[in-house]
Amino acid sequence: MNIIETKNVTYQYPDGTNALENINFSAPTGKIIALLGPNGAGKSTLFLHFNGILQPTSGSVMVDNACLNYKKEDLMNLRQKVGIVFQNPDDQLFAPTVVEDVAFGPVNLGLSKEEVKKRVDESLRRVEMIEFKHKAPHHLSGGQKKRVAIAGILAMHPKIMVLDEPTSGLDPRGASKIMKLLYELNREGITIIISTHDVDLVPLYAHSVYIISKGNIIKKGSPQEVFEDA
Ligand code: ADP
Ligand code: ADP
Repeated sequence: MNIIETKNVTYQYPDGTNALENINFSAPTGKIIALLGPNGAGKSTLFLHFNGILQPTSGSVMVDNACLNYKKEDLMNLRQKVGIVFQNPDDQLFAPTVVEDVAFGPVNLGLSKEEVKKRVDESLRRVEMIEFKHKAPHHLSGGQKKRVAIAGILAMHPKIMVLDEPTSGLDPRGASKIMKLLYELNREGITIIISTHDVDLVPLYAHSVYIISKGNIIKKGSPQEVFEDA
């Protein structure tokens, strides 16, 4: 079963840039899927289709067996189900303190004060950032910011986490800390989709790999299949 599936998704930005062409991508439920490709290949653009931030120019996107219809009520649900962690955490962290940032989503869901607090504390413990709860996000290191962004998504109790270059810009220790966390979350049942240009990382963790170049999927399969004749 696939929890996310795109059928012939083509996307053209308003300025005429053709960012995606006929993308058929599927994420099997409960797996880790890696999307590999150079800068500008279309990774972020594809990811933004998974929670309805972008709507395909043509083609369709299915999440949890439902074709996205881009109605306001459904988008709310969708964004709870599919959490996206952007490549640059500064695009995502805007509250004055870490706790307020992580609470933003759950508060928007209309959860009770107690439930919000419970989820925020739980999520910050999970990413080992609880001791920074009263800090300003802009004072944190890159890796710490990424972990706070991940906590904000976790607090929504997502089924799917989509992470754009989660290890980029981090030192090896910071990167492996994030990858270890993602493995754990996957073992607990969350489907993880990540993009990376770090080929060395992929065989370690992914169940399936897609390679994207210039808006086209040029290869897909298990890490062995994709890399054996590379
Ligand atoms: P990646 O995530 O693989 O680096 P992107 O999805 O960001 O690739 O970009 C795919 C293509 O779309 C590139 O040619 C990029 O320049 C272009 N692009 C990205 N965002 C925009 C935008 N907002 N407007 C116009 N073109 C864009
Ligand atoms: P400003 O940017 O306004 O000069 P400071 O750098 O003096 O602020 O720091 C304000 C607060 O943030 C201080 O309590 C400081 O200990 C804390 N802080 C600064 N940098 C970091 C960091 N990298 N990680 C955690 N806390 C930090």
